[in-house]
Amino acid sequence: GGEKIPYDPEQLRKINEHPCYSEKACHSAGRMHLAVAPKCNIQCNYCVRDFDCVNESRPGVCSEVLSPEEAIELVKKALSKFPYIKVIGIAGPGDPLANEETFETLRLLKEEFPTPIKCLSTNGLLLPESIDRLLEYDVGNVTVTMNAVDPAIGEKIYSFVEWEGKKLHGREAAEKLLSQQLKGIEMAVSKKMLVKVNTVFIPGVNDHHIIDIAKKAGEMGVFTFNLIPVIPQYKFKDIVPPTPKEKREMQDSCSPFVRQMRHCQRCRSDAIGKLGHDVQDCLYNKKD
Ligand code: SF4
Ligand code: SF4
Repeated sequence: GGEKIPYDPEQLRKINEHPCYSEKACHSAGRMHLAVAPKCNIQCNYCVRDFDCVNESRPGVCSEVLSPEEAIELVKKALSKFPYIKVIGIAGPGDPLANEETFETLRLLKEEFPTPIKCLSTNGLLLPESIDRLLEYDVGNVTVTMNAVDPAIGEKIYSFVEWEGKKLHGREAAEKLLSQQLKGIEMAVSKKMLVKVNTVFIPGVNDHHIIDIAKKAGEMGVFTFNLIPVIPQYKFKDIVPPTPKEKREMQDSCSPFVRQMRHCQRCRSDAIGKLGHDVQDCLYNKKD
């Protein structure tokens, strides 16, 4: 948005040293993702659940799930070998907030590695009830994937949402997810977290609505907006994804309302290194 929000020094660090929040930092700082969160609590119509959560990630990748203890060992190795890693994030392979292992990992991280920025991505369903724990573990950067701000559009994107032991479908599912996302984003912003909104660009489903999402994000004080072309699979396998030009034009149309992230690499949920220059294979002792 146009209006200048004054960021405090700690927030500025979480912007300027985070390769996804600062395009400048992406050349010098790296991030590592810990794949400790296999379960998900919703079903997006573009997601085949055998792979990483495609709300952030590349398709066709199935990251090896680590226990919290294994994740901590990996962080130890990675930070000693690659000191430019400034951010430790949890991005899947499912929804981080739907897995208790996420919180155990964050707790251990806070004890052993208090300095690196802690970052997490989520579909937002459990964000309101998770905010206090995220704050306790110093998570300063949160990404919420929000594909609609109108449940009439949301219901075309989600097959179901698991809520308090029940499976919600249709409009009811979309309403629940949206209200949780909005509440969660509002709480996160009010607690001075830096919020990124990811929106999956789905031609014929939410394309005419994306500017409304960007407007809403800007109004709510979201720091940056990351438009992601849909990967045609599962129920959306016949959708033609937007071209790079269509994506750029949509970002241009959204840019008056909220800052645009234009350098996203769609990293895997176990990525380590600088964006586009992953080094995880040196640490996992495995070949891709
Ligand atoms: Fe798949 Fe992620 Fe959607 Fe869950 S939130 S269904 S893992 S894309
Ligand atoms: Fe950053 Fe995009 Fe990679 Fe997430 S998927 S870590 S936003 S570059």
